[in-house]
Amino acid sequence: MKKIQMVDLKSQYEKIQTEVDASVLDVIRSTQYINGPEVKSFQKELEEYLDVKHVIPCANGTDALQIAMMALDLKPGDEVITSNFTYVATAEVIALLQLTPVLVDVYADTFDIDIEAMEKAITPKTKAIVPVHLFGQASNMEALMEIAKKHNLFVIEDNAQAIGCDYLFKDGSKQKVGTIGTVGCTSFFPAKNLGCYGDGGAIFTNDDELAVKLRQTANHGQSRQYIHDRVGVNSRLDSIQAAILRIKLRHLDTYSAERNKAANYYDHAFGAHEKVKIPKRVSYSNHVFHQYTLQLNNVNREEIIAFLREKEVPAMIYYPIPLHMQDAYTDARYKKEDFPVTEKLCATVISLPMQTELSEEQLKYITDSVLEFLNK
Ligand SMILES: *Cc1c(COP(=O)(O)O)cnc(C)c1O
Repeated sequence: MKKIQMVDLKSQYEKIQTEVDASVLDVIRSTQYINGPEVKSFQKELEEYLDVKHVIPCANGTDALQIAMMALDLKPGDEVITSNFTYVATAEVIALLQLTPVLVDVYADTFDIDIEAMEKAITPKTKAIVPVHLFGQASNMEALMEIAKKHNLFVIEDNAQAIGCDYLFKDGSKQKVGTIGTVGCTSFFPAKNLGCYGDGGAIFTNDDELAVKLRQTANHGQSRQYIHDRVGVNSRLDSIQAAILRIKLRHLDTYSAERNKAANYYDHAFGAHEKVKIPKRVSYSNHVFHQYTLQLNNVNREEIIAFLREKEVPAMIYYPIPLHMQDAYTDARYKKEDFPVTEKLCATVISLPMQTELSEEQLKYITDSVLEFLNK
């Protein structure tokens, strides 16, 4: 059996190696390393795939969030509401722009921002909400958009973990996650569902005027060469990464299906076990399983991780510490016990290997190993 990896980028690459190697070489020979034709083609193909009017490629997912907030002209002191149970980048850019991050607890079963707590956190200074489609399943966008509309707030979707995921509206229609709010942001970090071989990111919007501002902001605030209308940043997706992403985008739906196959296998193995809770699937979204995350119930997490490590089964904790308990984000507004669900999740979650290359043999070995510990 092949050694089990949390994410097996090598095996995935080997399946598309001929195509990738040729297109990377083509870019090198073309010398159009920045904003070359590959970037424009990828942008167009991603617009088609997502069915969104504008894709603005940029250097990484963190930049995508920052550029979105800059292009929306958010000002120091404006409050931006987001989930406390997320990767740090979401809150980081808010703080970096001297906006005020307002953290909200999540639901225990979906890991998603608590909609009632979110509405309660709205003040006259609130300007935007940042839902995070955590682990590959959509936030409750229909409910969230209604509240945003009522309070006249921007919605910036952090879609770094859920590209390709469909949101299923009550009326039966569906739309790609990341294209529902004012603006959507994603990351092409190698381990993400659509990952390149370096850093990359993109911003999506259906708003023509905002698209102009986003594009300018990502390019030194430039409207025409050497004409700078606003303060911007330098954030570009390079042509080699775009060439790789064009190839991988064609496989994205297959990749999502592979992830679902692994998740179904895990669900089947653990669904009835009292010592673990499997991730909840919601009716309003399909799932692209960026992570497969169990909640442990009266199980010593360090011991199970050590036991699995001994058996060469990797396992990770996403995320071990709530944002409000990180030194960078401690705030007089928050007490330790203000976010009971997030705190409990941080103490009990464990993520199993989740990727596109898991064989049935590996899945059996992983689930057998986990069950062996749980049943000890
Ligand atoms: C990965 C990630 C980001 C940041 O993306 P980078 O490309 O690493 O900058 C932001 N938000 C979430 C939820 C992420 O998972």
